[in-house]
Amino acid sequence: MTEPIIILEYAEDPLRWAAESLLKRFKSQLPNLGDLLIFVEEPTIAPVMRKQLLKSAQQYHFSSLLGPTICTLQDYALLLAPTQSIQISRAASELHLKKELESFTHLFGESDPWRLATTLLDLFDELTYQGISPGNNIDSFITRISDAWHIDNTRINQHSDEARIIYTLWHAWHEQLDAMQMQDEPMAIQKALQHLSGTTVKADFIYLLGITELKGIEGDCIRQLLEQGNTQLIIQSAKAAKLNADHESHTIPTCWQRLNQQINSDESNVQQIVANNSNKASSAFFEAVFNYQQEPLPIRAENFAELYPESPVQNKMQCVSANGIEQEAMLVKKQIAQWLDEGYRNIAIVSEDRKLSRRVRALLERDDIHVYDLAGWTLATTRVATVIEAWLQCIETNFSHYPLLELLKSSYSNLHTDPVEYEHAIYRFELDIVHHEQVASDLKRYRKHIEYRHQRLSWNEPQTKTITDILILLEKTAQPLQKAFRSNSRKSYLTADRYIAILMNNLQQLNLIQQLEQDDAGVTMLNLLEQLKHCTDQHPLPLSWGDFRDWLGQQFENSHFRPKVDSRDIQLLSLAQTRLMSFDRLVIAGNEYSHIPGSPDSTPYFNQQVRKELGLAVRQDHLSIKLHDYRRLIESALCNAQSSECKLLLTWRHQDQDEDIMPTPWLQAMQSFHQQAWGSNLLNDEFYQQMLDELKPKKQSPHTQDMPAASISAANINITLVPEFLSASSHQQLIDCPYKFFCSSILKLQAVEEIQEALSAADYGHKVHACLEAFHAPVAGFPEPFSLNFTDANRALAITHLEALSGKVFSKDIEANFQHRAWLQRWTAIIPNYIDWQISRTGFFKLQQTEQLATRAITQHTSLKGRLDRIDVTLAPVADGKNLNVIDYKTGSTNLSSKDITAGEQTQLLTYALLDDRIDSVQYLQLTPSKPSKTQAEFKSEQLASLKQSNLDRLNIILEQLGNGQDMPAWGSPKACAHCKMTGICRKQVVGESQENEA
Ligand code: SF4
Repeated sequence: MTEPIIILEYAEDPLRWAAESLLKRFKSQLPNLGDLLIFVEEPTIAPVMRKQLLKSAQQYHFSSLLGPTICTLQDYALLLAPTQSIQISRAASELHLKKELESFTHLFGESDPWRLATTLLDLFDELTYQGISPGNNIDSFITRISDAWHIDNTRINQHSDEARIIYTLWHAWHEQLDAMQMQDEPMAIQKALQHLSGTTVKADFIYLLGITELKGIEGDCIRQLLEQGNTQLIIQSAKAAKLNADHESHTIPTCWQRLNQQINSDESNVQQIVANNSNKASSAFFEAVFNYQQEPLPIRAENFAELYPESPVQNKMQCVSANGIEQEAMLVKKQIAQWLDEGYRNIAIVSEDRKLSRRVRALLERDDIHVYDLAGWTLATTRVATVIEAWLQCIETNFSHYPLLELLKSSYSNLHTDPVEYEHAIYRFELDIVHHEQVASDLKRYRKHIEYRHQRLSWNEPQTKTITDILILLEKTAQPLQKAFRSNSRKSYLTADRYIAILMNNLQQLNLIQQLEQDDAGVTMLNLLEQLKHCTDQHPLPLSWGDFRDWLGQQFENSHFRPKVDSRDIQLLSLAQTRLMSFDRLVIAGNEYSHIPGSPDSTPYFNQQVRKELGLAVRQDHLSIKLHDYRRLIESALCNAQSSECKLLLTWRHQDQDEDIMPTPWLQAMQSFHQQAWGSNLLNDEFYQQMLDELKPKKQSPHTQDMPAASISAANINITLVPEFLSASSHQQLIDCPYKFFCSSILKLQAVEEIQEALSAADYGHKVHACLEAFHAPVAGFPEPFSLNFTDANRALAITHLEALSGKVFSKDIEANFQHRAWLQRWTAIIPNYIDWQISRTGFFKLQQTEQLATRAITQHTSLKGRLDRIDVTLAPVADGKNLNVIDYKTGSTNLSSKDITAGEQTQLLTYALLDDRIDSVQYLQLTPSKPSKTQAEFKSEQLASLKQSNLDRLNIILEQLGNGQDMPAWGSPKACAHCKMTGICRKQVVGESQENEA
């Protein structure tokens, strides 16, 4: 007789074992297996099991089978449930519960009601799935909670609040569902399973295959099925150690121990199956490593080495530690590409770190290697969500140029029959109307300026018509949602289904539906919108615009999109998604403590003690499931490996953003055990060390004269692309970060120019420069310069003159924006300081020129150029003709340091000094309100000559190296990166600083 519960060793292939066992038992019925049922944990495993059955049936000479039915227990129960009550979706539940919570603000004060609604629903689902209810007596529930806290009733006030809130809201929610005559999904599943438990399932035999996690309500049902006598539960589990009471609370339960708490089966019903493969030594290795209840690890390792003088896992499994996420992702990509070259096809990349998974997938796709990503990504991160978000933001911001251009430039946009003409019209609109005319919002204003432009300048008729027609279409389409956006009374609020109906209608009018239907993500989005509309129209609920937007955004976040990939040769999975699966080659990436085991999903309700008392999952359960999945995956991969080549690669990063990272304790245990037993710890063998060395960037530092060797984040150019003229700021960029120089001075990329409605600090600086220029020399359109000598007697006159002149310079902006007065006030507060500084120079220097443009050739192809704010002449006689003093105005709060200049890090003043051989000194003049104006970072004579020469030499070397094809790395310091406008395209953020600075 066969026992109802079969526990397979991890080394066994559970699908193959189950298929062979089933076919052997029912061989007389082949090929008709229609009366058999196989319940699996996840629907994704059903096709894999069917494939395995067909493969195993070949030994009985059958190439096709009739049945069996393979599905999840929950789906089967729902199918047999007698009454199909109306089921409320999760999206509609969030909406209704949030509304319900508005009547209970006295219970939760200022808490975010959306977050409260989602976390409460998570808790209610968990309680229902575990078959737990707070009951109908609040005092008993509070007593139950206080018992869990081990405190008496006199001290439970702070804890009773939590119990009271849960109790009250649970009942309010269930009453609301009853009033709507609806039930949520967990309630429907609970009722269906209860019904199934009381029914005799009509099947010759039932297999429950590979169950790892059980909800409380499933446990009851499985117990009933096992009692029927025609059911077999097949699971994989580590050997259950006998625990003594001291160990019990610290020990991670095995999968079987955890399941049996719910099934409560007798030991006599259980049969343990030893794996039928030749690699028993590997199985023994893992058993010895993870059997924490036995002796300490060093003793276990020593004993094991006596039995097995050679490591059974050496070479079959490799552990590699990378120095950052980029290096780890590159390493995984290289390994996958190599296995593909060797002809392997059933390959898995397993990771609990979504950031790493996304990076690996991107790197593989860059090499045209497509990955089947079972988790996919949230819909909110797709281009389709971006275009819908842009439309909704247009409504909210009166068509601000940011969302408007996002919408118009989206690859989904199809607002004109001729795409080339459309593209050109949008380009001119952005450049001429938004940037040049500085129109930042309002469809009517855009159209008015288009008309001006058309009258005055080169805007031709078709282009004007194209963009005007589009703006008219947008205006007409937006009206219903704009009206809803402006509604501020409950009576005029729309219901969620109505909002979505209008939104979908808008998409239709904007010709977007047709475009979305061509695209997998677009179809997923359209389906989601349809579902949301449908699930909210049964009990319509009026919503403010803000609530609708929060709710919709949440649905985009909660929905996933999985791109279609033809081949499943390479799969990207989480640990839980690998259950029952076997692979020819396997990478487990991201073996950091923070991901494996990681932490259970956080919940704001109940601590671990209370959760345990209530029967909810606790941290030990989380650890048990993670260890089970991790160990099963590794052990099944290794124990089936017949050859000595590497079949399993485990990677992690030991460093991130200069912080040390801990690997998972289970990897540490395997390594320590191996080290103790055989003196080697499985880490970075020669082959992988070489791979890591190839991926490691070379030392890079702004202090190094030589440009560095190849780096991951670097560009390479032809010298003819270096601009003919290098300004002081491009010279500085080249020294700060060659990659930034490459982006801004060679590719000439610019961050999107801000449409300014207020004067920026940079504009303020330009105005101050203009004031001082006009104060010292005639400038067309401004009052005369100050013509008297700068003396104490004339101080007041000079101040008044500069103040009046400054008023003129700032006047245009003051009309445009009243806030600009603050900038003028800031400058007029500085004027007396400036005049005092000017007076202090009388008799020593004479102003010669302001805003002087100068150039100097440094190579055959390249010259330096600069605009010198002010040049003074020394009045004292000089012998060598070097009598010029260059002053650079600084109006911001820049921290100017002489040290940075002598170290070669700040090049602006030295670039100016290189522009004219007569320059004898250079300095900054700080113009800030808080201190008297004074010069800073002054360099002169021999010191200046020496610094000029070393800067010139360095620049010549760099230009020569660029000419020789040297890479231009992204090595910006944190300070340089903080102000860099190229961060959006710079790879340094991904590569990570630790890696960039690696020696
Ligand atoms: S972000 Fe930093 S490293 Fe990247 S280009 Fe800018 S300065 Fe260079």
